[in-house]
Amino acid sequence: MTYRAPISDILLALNHGAGLQAAVQAGHYGDFDGDIAAAVLEEAGKFAGDVLAPLNRVGDEQGIKLADNKVTTAPGWPDAYRRWAAAGWNAVSGPEAFGGQGLPLAINAACTEIWSASNIAFGLCPLLTLSAIEALEAHGSDELKQIYLQKLVSGEWTGTMQLTESQAGSDVGALRTRAERAGDGSYRIKGTKIFITYGDHDMTDNIVHFVLARLPDAPAGTKGISLFLIPKLLVNADGSLGARNDIHPSGVEHKLGMHASPTCTMTMGDHGGAIGYLIGEENKGMQCMFTMMNQARLGVGLEGVGIADRAYQQALAFAQERKQGRAVGKKGDGLDPIIVHPDVKRMLLQMRSMTAAARSICYATAVAFDISARAKDPKVRADAAARGALLTPIAKAFSTDIGNEVTYLGVQIHGGMGFIEETGAAQHYRDARITSIYEGTNGIQSIDLVTRKLAANGGASVWALLDELNGIVKQVETSNDPGFGTTGAKLRDALGSLERASKWLLERVASAPNDALAGATPYLRLFGSTLGGCMLAGEALAAKSHGDAGDPQRYVTVARFFAENITVQAGSLEKTVTDSAEAVNGADAVWLG
Ligand SMILES: Cc1cc2nc3c(=O)[nH]c(=O)nc-3n(C[C@H](O)[C@H](O)[C@H](O)COP(=O)(O)OP(=O)(O)OC[C@H]3O[C@@H](n4cnc5c(N)ncnc54)[C@H](O)[C@@H]3O)c2cc1C
Repeated sequence: MTYRAPISDILLALNHGAGLQAAVQAGHYGDFDGDIAAAVLEEAGKFAGDVLAPLNRVGDEQGIKLADNKVTTAPGWPDAYRRWAAAGWNAVSGPEAFGGQGLPLAINAACTEIWSASNIAFGLCPLLTLSAIEALEAHGSDELKQIYLQKLVSGEWTGTMQLTESQAGSDVGALRTRAERAGDGSYRIKGTKIFITYGDHDMTDNIVHFVLARLPDAPAGTKGISLFLIPKLLVNADGSLGARNDIHPSGVEHKLGMHASPTCTMTMGDHGGAIGYLIGEENKGMQCMFTMMNQARLGVGLEGVGIADRAYQQALAFAQERKQGRAVGKKGDGLDPIIVHPDVKRMLLQMRSMTAAARSICYATAVAFDISARAKDPKVRADAAARGALLTPIAKAFSTDIGNEVTYLGVQIHGGMGFIEETGAAQHYRDARITSIYEGTNGIQSIDLVTRKLAANGGASVWALLDELNGIVKQVETSNDPGFGTTGAKLRDALGSLERASKWLLERVASAPNDALAGATPYLRLFGSTLGGCMLAGEALAAKSHGDAGDPQRYVTVARFFAENITVQAGSLEKTVTDSAEAVNGADAVWLG
């Protein structure tokens, strides 16, 4: 099944939903020319459709192989990666001082969606490299930057992110990998990490591992964690590659999906310890890692968007082809394509509108990150940083939940053929599943949203966002477009639910934390579906007034469907948050009785 990047949907979401155009006009992006976006994305779409999409099935079927401490990727993958990097795709938003193109993160976010849609297991590799670049740029010494950044930015080398150990998953503070000072400024690292994505592969000559470890005299928990850069091959003074470092893939996992992405057990210390270099300060590794994780969380949210869009495109094509039954009221012989049936239309609209809502939220997160890094005015930067922080867990969890739901519907629309591997619908469903688990499970994201992001400054970031959303709803209410149906009323009700649920949670975060935690996941859903509903309505209004996105009424229909079918659930989600804590926290009686 081919993939075609939905460029006009992407540009509408980027420019109007996420506010890129307004931010450029306000001068927050310096001399960046917003018109470049379309050309870059067209090219990304071509590469993805021509080179990456055809390898998606091969990667799934052939997977990866581990032999003699080396991972081999699926046929065609190393060549595709080299072409991809040579075309400059790894460097889109990389720092110009190290060979990057310096384009906004928002443009790279749209590219990440495109790579993920065409081939999610491929796109995962550079997603982690990008996070590594951010951490090294923000926290690394000048010497480390000089040696490693340019190679990482160009994609000549890739990066990994190594937190997880068998006893330390969500609870990163429980990690035991040891680091000892070697006396020459470097460190020797010993330990075993599990589940390391692209921990080894044959697509590049070197791999730069970013590993969390603990010094012998470190305090317990997350306050005693340090971040180390550990190259697979040591780098000589002249920049050439030297000896193999003491870090090896000692196993690979057999997984439900993402077969082409190696998930490795990494062993350090079989030969005296891997040589590592400290990033940032000793015992301040979590701070550095958060720089990586925020990037990666947005990236994984975009994986959810991408895989959802791919599943939608495939389901739409199938529904237009597959003939079963007749449209109600149609007479005579012959069968109609299943797309005539209201239940199939409903599934397709659900897929389309959920994907669009998640896309807008992810892009808005990227624009907030950009403004927080680029705007001149410190207040604008601080507000954008708060917005980016608030949106990150929603972008990650809401979008990946949607990736799962949309790929589920993709299988459903295919009927029995969806369950058969031949169509590819099943692969999307399998591949999507991990996105709600890694980079912090979606449960952990919702806890982050309630206990940190909502609670920051008495909810100030949430109230500021609600104000803006209120402005969009007012515009819908006064638009006099019957195409919006009851969108305005549904969105207004949802804003009320979100505000009340936020206040309820704020009152309990400190006083009754278990009550707040019990409602965290439904709260994140309430937040995402209200925010997504408002953003889609705002985009539909923009499509009508700017006239640069084809027939604007299709966006009105998508926004209306989402408001009337998804956002409308806000009322019951509010009740779930506020009324169900007692049952949840009394649950022990259920399994003990
Ligand atoms: C394919 C794949 C690729 C991966 N890639 C990487 C990688 O590149 N680098 C890396 O470091 N790791 C990687 N991981 C690990 C991944 O990030 C973890 O699996 C994930 O963070 C969850 O940790 P866990 O598996 O130990 O689950 P656990 O932490 O044991 O969680 C199990 C369940 O309990 C819940 N839970 C746990 N603690 C709490 C809490 N305090 N409150 C509420 N609920 C809680 C979780 O939400 C989850 O539902 C990868 C994993 C996979 C499967």
